[in-house]
Amino acid sequence: MLNSEYLQRVYTQVVTRDPDQKEFHQAVLEVLESLELMLPQHPEYEELGIVERFVEPERVISFRVPWVDDQGHVRVNRGYRVQFNSAIGPYKGGLRFHPTVNQSILKFLGFEQILKNSLTGLPIGGGKGGSDFDPKGKSDGEVMRFCQSFMTELYRHIGQFVDVPAGDIGVGGREIGYLFGQYRRIRGDHEAGVLTGKGLSYGGSLARTEATGYGLCYFTEEMLRCMKGESFDGKTVVISGSGNVAIFACEKATSLGAKVVAMSDSDGYIHDPNGIRLDVVKEIKLSRRGRIQEYADKVSGSTYHENFRDIWTIPCDIALPCATQNEIGADEASALVKNGVMAVAEGANMPSRPEAIQIFQDAGVLFGPAKAANAGGVATSALEMCQNSMRYSWTFEEVDAKLKDIMTSIFHNSYNAAEKYGVPGNLVAGANIAGFAKVGDAMVAHGII
Ligand code: NDP
Repeated sequence: MLNSEYLQRVYTQVVTRDPDQKEFHQAVLEVLESLELMLPQHPEYEELGIVERFVEPERVISFRVPWVDDQGHVRVNRGYRVQFNSAIGPYKGGLRFHPTVNQSILKFLGFEQILKNSLTGLPIGGGKGGSDFDPKGKSDGEVMRFCQSFMTELYRHIGQFVDVPAGDIGVGGREIGYLFGQYRRIRGDHEAGVLTGKGLSYGGSLARTEATGYGLCYFTEEMLRCMKGESFDGKTVVISGSGNVAIFACEKATSLGAKVVAMSDSDGYIHDPNGIRLDVVKEIKLSRRGRIQEYADKVSGSTYHENFRDIWTIPCDIALPCATQNEIGADEASALVKNGVMAVAEGANMPSRPEAIQIFQDAGVLFGPAKAANAGGVATSALEMCQNSMRYSWTFEEVDAKLKDIMTSIFHNSYNAAEKYGVPGNLVAGANIAGFAKVGDAMVAHGII
């Protein structure tokens, strides 16, 4: 609910311009509700039209991606790059390959990315891209041909000082490798800093693979310590998803003394009261791209259940949603609260619906919003760019230590901003405000562009 006439006008325009972009509206409304707290101290935001410029992407590129499948049939997908805001640095944000990808999803992700990237304290703007291509069930050859075709258009819009894509859902090390190979071939040079999430043999950073999941746990540990005098040690944890973020969140939570008892994929979830055996999950999901269901066949005492959303009915102290947007609605949030959850921190982007966040906040559950809690991936991507510029590599321990420092300061910056603007403990507002402050200042400094 917006009280400011100015922000209400901005929001109405967002909805009127693109009435079917529901995910984007959801992300914008949450941020505007937080910015409302800052407006009295920043009259220049309205005078200079900062907020109406902030909610409009600088550029949205949409393109055809033709490729040939293993049967020799021509297939056509749609590719996108949303270059949202470059006020504090080159556009930076992942590529998502998933059948649900459309402009609304990519605009919401690109918009959130601006604030997330700002929160890292590193000089990176916000963007996002992807395609409705589904890598699931495709051969390596098909994925390679798709990636080559995708990059044959994308290359003209990106560059180390312009726009630096990375991975996201459906885009892991294999896809980044094919994308980088095609970029290198077209450009005829080795511009390592054009993509992040690269393999270690050609300019990748140690600890990038682990960074989002590890960073999520560093953020959560600091939130627990500072706001409740608690830690992961001895806690029961439920993690949705079993992809990159979920797997490394599980690894770090376990190493911090927690017991992770459930994980999922888009078909269903596994429950292992003895504690998830991550070696088995990694073998199924990372080595073979299999289904999480297979875990129950391999590990006695564990069970498999269809409907991945029911994972939130399992009692836990800490919930880490790491699958996809809007996976926790009011029902799932109520079930978690009823079962005594103490903290929820978002590894995925916007996994909690607004009504779910409200339920957590009303119940006094600690809530770490995605743009703060999952910023470790992009922060380490920016560290990868640093190393590429220096033509030097840090050790795993050096990158991990920097990641931990960054996540700890993201927590404190969000926490302090919430306190400063009169909503103590509200990390949603705190992260939005702390992230926006720098971008808003830069936009004021650059004039009306
Ligand atoms: P992956 O593709 O590695 O894994 C995604 C996981 O979520 C899989 O287990 C997948 O199941 C499940 N999933 C995907 N879509 C759905 C859906 N519609 N319903 C239910 N489950 C689904 O992706 P990542 O781990 O990289 O990303 C997960 C989330 O984290 C995303 O929201 C992403 O934007 C966010 N994120 C990722 C970062 C990164 O560094 N990778 C950085 C910051 C945020 P299945 O195997 O069945 O598809």
